[in-house]
Amino acid sequence: MNMSDVYDTIIIGGGPAGLTAGLYAARARMNAILIERMGFGGQLLTYEKVDNYPGFPEGVSAFGLGELISAQALRFGLQTRSSEVVGLGVDGPVRTVQLTDGVLSCKTIVVASGASPNKLGAKGETEYTGRGVSYCAVCDAPFFRDQDVAVVGGGDTAIEEAIYLTKFVKRVYVVHRRDRLRATQVIQEKAAQNPKISFVLNTVVPEIQGGPQGVGSLVLQDVQSGKTSQLEVDGVFVFVGIHPNTQYVPGEIEMDAQGFIRTDQEMATSVGGIFAAGDVRAKELRQIVTAVGDGATAAFNAGRYIEARFH
Ligand code: NAP
Repeated sequence: MNMSDVYDTIIIGGGPAGLTAGLYAARARMNAILIERMGFGGQLLTYEKVDNYPGFPEGVSAFGLGELISAQALRFGLQTRSSEVVGLGVDGPVRTVQLTDGVLSCKTIVVASGASPNKLGAKGETEYTGRGVSYCAVCDAPFFRDQDVAVVGGGDTAIEEAIYLTKFVKRVYVVHRRDRLRATQVIQEKAAQNPKISFVLNTVVPEIQGGPQGVGSLVLQDVQSGKTSQLEVDGVFVFVGIHPNTQYVPGEIEMDAQGFIRTDQEMATSVGGIFAAGDVRAKELRQIVTAVGDGATAAFNAGRYIEARFH
């Protein structure tokens, strides 16, 4: 094999982690390419505003932050390709990344393919997806202007998106399965002060009902009494956590029970030369600021790996 056809590193995913890995790899003059199946920005494309990324005292538009990070990586010559990764070959010194439209070879891989929203698993959820059931408030909120909607979940995403939805809708019912929210305190306080938000706690949603027009109501079940009731809403936004985008990752790369990739603090996985960064990684704090740190660390250590093995 002609080594000039072999990339130093292939970065999978164009969210904050992948783009930052690309920025660091490009600045280190590595022959790096980033593969992204949609647009740059990753999950930033589904949020409105970011208030906890340092350097923006008034907050920053999530979409805008994605654009800034990608522009910075591209300025240093990061190569990119729009394609989907369907498999990895991790045996031997030269690794392969299989795409829907070709195969690339490389010395190291940075897996930064992020995570996607979980489904609730309620009856009717699939049937009404796109007809009242949504997983992205920024994408779909304008369709529910002056209507009543529910948000299911009690984490940061659910509560932030409930607050965002109040700019459009008449009322947001936050339906959460426990008596306490999981979201960060400052986000909870903001929601509690919003007169358009009502909390329905200790409650699960076994069924989403509707008709030809789309969603019309939710069946609610009180987890303590088991009693069911009906909540009339025009839409339901599901934010019940995320799962890693690791469908293409082979079993040699160690993952936790949920499929998040285990790494050490160098972002190295169980297979030498394969690194993981961002939300795809098993970790405690999934934030933009930790994703970019992971990306930088992964690219730096990919460079070190190449120095040790190929020079
Ligand atoms: P998350 O923190 O895992 O929260 C998921 C929520 O969904 C929890 O309240 C959970 O309930 C509930 N849930 C899970 N499965 C359910 C089911 N089958 N039925 C009903 N409810 C269910 O997920 P996330 O909010 O998407 O956040 C993902 C990560 O991104 C987190 O680390 C979060 O901190 C981070 N994030 C941060 C920000 C920010 O800093 N501004 C914004 C968005 C996301 P329980 O509480 O009972 O488990």
